[in-house]
Amino acid sequence: MTEILFRDDSYLRECQATVTDSGDGAVLLERTIFYPTGGGQPGDTGRMSWDGGNATIINTVYGDGGEIRHLVAEGDSLPGSGTSVNIEIDWDRRYRHMRMHTALHLLGSVLQYGVTGGSIGAEKSRLDFDMVDPVDKEAVNSALQALVADDHPITCRWITDEELAAKPELVRTLSVQPPKGAGKIRLLEIEGVDLQPCGGTHLKSTAEVGAVRLGKVEKKGKHNRRVSIVLDD
Ligand SMILES: [Zn+2]
Repeated sequence: MTEILFRDDSYLRECQATVTDSGDGAVLLERTIFYPTGGGQPGDTGRMSWDGGNATIINTVYGDGGEIRHLVAEGDSLPGSGTSVNIEIDWDRRYRHMRMHTALHLLGSVLQYGVTGGSIGAEKSRLDFDMVDPVDKEAVNSALQALVADDHPITCRWITDEELAAKPELVRTLSVQPPKGAGKIRLLEIEGVDLQPCGGTHLKSTAEVGAVRLGKVEKKGKHNRRVSIVLDD
C-alpha cells in the first residue's frame, strides 16, 4: 500500500518516491503527497519527473483495491516500476482546496444541523444541511468570518476504537459517528470550535482561510438548504 504523507503533513508540495507499478495511464507510488478524490474534495493535480522523462498528473483517484492512482495526461510517457520520481503538487489549487475544506468545517460549526452532502472546489464550495429553518445569511457570514479572524489552531490526532469507546463524552461532540472497526480513527480538532473524524487536508490555523464569505443559499427541498461559500481572492 502507498504510504500517505498528506495525512501527517498537508503542506508538503514536493517529494521523491519510487514507482511500484504503472500502466493504463496511471502511476502507483510507494508513497505520495497527492490527495485522491474523496470526501467531496477533488484529487490533486501536478507534475512528475524522473531521469529522462516527465509527465503531467491530471488527477489522483483511488483504484478498486484502495490503491492510489496518479493519472497521467494522455500521450505522456509512464515511468516503469522501480523508477525514482519527483512529484510536485499544483499547489495554488490544492491550497485553495485546503482553505475551502477548513472553511466548510467552520460553516458546519456555525450551522449545527445534519450534513447530507458537500462539495469542495477552488472557487466555490458547499454543504447541504438537513434543515427547514431559513438561513440568516448575514449572521452566518459574520460568524464564519469571526471564526477566521479569531485564528483557532487546528490539529489532527489518531485515537483507537478503544480510546473512543472509553470516552463517550467525546462521541457526543462528534457531528458524525466515526466508522468502527478500522482500528484507529483520525480526529480533526479546530480548537474550541469543531471536533470530528476527517481524513482530508486542512490548514494549521483558521486565519489561513483568509477572505471567505457566504455565497448562495438555495432551498433544495423541504429539508435541504444548500449553503455555498466563496473565496474573495
Ligand atoms: Zn476535514
